[in-house]
Amino acid sequence: MEQFRTRRATIVLALVCLTACAGRRPGSPIKPGFNVYSKEQDIELGRRGAAEISRQLELVSDQKLQEYIKTLGQRLASVRAAEDYPYTFTLIHDKGINAFALPGGPIFVNSGLLTAAENEAQLAGVLAHEIAHVALRHGTNQASKANLLQLPAAVGGVILGQGSVAAQAGQIGLGLGLNVLMLRYSRSAESQADALGARILAEAGYNPVEMARFFEKLEAEGGSRAPQFLSSHPNPGDRLRAVGAEIQTFPRQSYKASTGQFAHAQDLVAKLPPPRRSSNQGAAQAPQLSPSGTLRDFEDNRFTIAYPDNWKAFGGADSAMVVLAPQEGVVANAYGGATIGYGALVSYYFSQSARASLMQATGELMRRLEEENPSMQVTGQSRRIKISDSPGLLSAFSSASPYGGVENNLLLTVMRPEGLFYVVFIAPQPRAEQLEATFQKMLRSIRFRG
Ligand code: ZN
Repeated sequence: MEQFRTRRATIVLALVCLTACAGRRPGSPIKPGFNVYSKEQDIELGRRGAAEISRQLELVSDQKLQEYIKTLGQRLASVRAAEDYPYTFTLIHDKGINAFALPGGPIFVNSGLLTAAENEAQLAGVLAHEIAHVALRHGTNQASKANLLQLPAAVGGVILGQGSVAAQAGQIGLGLGLNVLMLRYSRSAESQADALGARILAEAGYNPVEMARFFEKLEAEGGSRAPQFLSSHPNPGDRLRAVGAEIQTFPRQSYKASTGQFAHAQDLVAKLPPPRRSSNQGAAQAPQLSPSGTLRDFEDNRFTIAYPDNWKAFGGADSAMVVLAPQEGVVANAYGGATIGYGALVSYYFSQSARASLMQATGELMRRLEEENPSMQVTGQSRRIKISDSPGLLSAFSSASPYGGVENNLLLTVMRPEGLFYVVFIAPQPRAEQLEATFQKMLRSIRFRG
């Protein structure tokens, strides 16, 4: 009986969600979501980030190619659906299949994407999809939600210090202008960018179906070496059908746009000398140095935790988030962000409800983590554990590693008067066994104050 009731509750919840959460009718307008940044701040963030990226990444030196991507991009950006942003289009010399947008307009495309596209409409499709992320302000929308997550800390009487996620990324000192820690768009952001991207394409005279077709093709070829594009732009599921339904709502037209330069541009890319540096993301390597057996303490006014003395603590006492990791454990990437690929992250989560149990608050936190990280998969049942006399939960999951492949994650949660204390231990799968002993020692070292 009990089981039956639980299942029924799940079904009811799922139904509510189907109508309320997924429910955007094809063709209905899409508006940018919650945002604490102004449009001007989007543009400023993007401008700073783009300058930094242009210094760090190798740009294609063939000006004819740069001119080509600019012409194509501006043609798409000039349609009404693209909104009014100072768009720029820059070709990066990199064989990886990738493209990304910064808030406020700068869009970067890898030369590898030009090679992979079968026709100009597919290339235009990727550009239109990126333009849509800018117009819908997905970058700062995600950063706004992340900041909101930290905000209740101040209400709870905990001193935040330099504690916002954005400030943390700055403290980590990546030297990148964009202080946005988020790397991947959510699935709902992806389906929005597909829908608005389709509209932009159609308005510019390109067949919008080609965008979905290209993404599905990348997905099919994916396998273990999935294109980088898919790790930052997760598949919201059945793109071809969703985009098809969107197109049904557009006025009928034949799609004939072309610069007439696509084949020539592909030839020029084929003739480029090899890039001086290998693919940006592929270059990131998991730390080679083993964690030291000697530990030192990280002390906060709320807790103490030990970590290997050849690691660093990023973020000081009273920060909303502390990262304990070797330098190479923090991976910078071209999106102007950082992710932790190896090490531990310590923070507090503040539940929506003041009376949430440890189990409920942990479930809520897991859902937040999943939203930010669609590749996340729960790999086992949570188990109970005692941490410094307080009841805690250990939950295991896996997700995509910034070094490529899969990483193992272990989440510790402990309910404390000041909020839900949590630690995420992060190990690339090939190194998981080696890090296990270190994580166990760190777990046992945790003490709470007061
Ligand atoms: Zn996307």
